[in-house]
Amino acid sequence: MTRILAVANQKGGVAKTTTVASLGAALADLDASVLVVDLDPQGCLTFSLGHNPDELEASVHDVLLGDEEIADVLLDTGDKVTLLPATIDLAGAEALLLMRPGREYALKRALAEVAEDFDVILIDCPPSLGVLTLNGLTAADQVIVPLQCETLAHRGVGQLMRTVTEVQQITNPGLQLLGAVATLFDARTTHSRDVLSDVADRYGLPVLDPPIPRTVRFAEASASGTSVMQGRKNKGATAYRELAENLWKHWEAGEQVRTSDLS
Ligand code: ADP
Ligand code: MG
Repeated sequence: MTRILAVANQKGGVAKTTTVASLGAALADLDASVLVVDLDPQGCLTFSLGHNPDELEASVHDVLLGDEEIADVLLDTGDKVTLLPATIDLAGAEALLLMRPGREYALKRALAEVAEDFDVILIDCPPSLGVLTLNGLTAADQVIVPLQCETLAHRGVGQLMRTVTEVQQITNPGLQLLGAVATLFDARTTHSRDVLSDVADRYGLPVLDPPIPRTVRFAEASASGTSVMQGRKNKGATAYRELAENLWKHWEAGEQVRTSDLS
């Protein structure tokens, strides 16, 4: 059975891409076969997994528009993870898809063709709530929301919750909101914890365990285009490994996903 997990938050810089890359690598280390999908025209996930978006001939853009078979566009990465890459072409996909019937289902239809080759498919949504994110949420079984633990973390969360509800009502009744992932977490202060419990309470969002601490290693990793999980000893990598185990137990053993007690 294939699990499809969307990582969504229309706010930029909350570690969506880092979460997809790190969870993908950690799940692959647990022997899952993993596909990661870059749905952001910026192509940051594609770049961080070792492929230059400017040099690719075909991408998820062509797949969504029906011009390429998904199987022909998939790329290997250094991480035992398969990538459906994005290029800047995807910036035009919003407008092109808008004119098509069933536009929210384009990714779902494409993934169905390769899903049986993978245990887990992770979708890196763009920083907007447009057609691309709707495609991600429509294709997914579950969604997680990275939340940066800063004062304005709650801004936009209500709008995202409404979008999830609308997708559940219209294009994907089976979509499950699994919870938030606390990112860029600073365990030394109570501030991160207070912000997080406030947002979690306000929106009834469980916070998945563990929080992901802020570490310098992550900033360095994405700058150099290498995986954040290489140099495996840092706190951030360890936290993503624990989160991957948490999710994997939930999927494989049917356990409840473990959540953090913030009180
Ligand atoms: P998004 O995809 O939501 O825009 P990114 O994953 O690109 O966010 O992360 C935004 C920035 O924060 C990147 O420069 C990334 O390297 C950095 N970052 C992400 N997670 C961490 C972390 N745990 N510690 C330090 N920096 C991080
Ligand atoms: Mg991103």
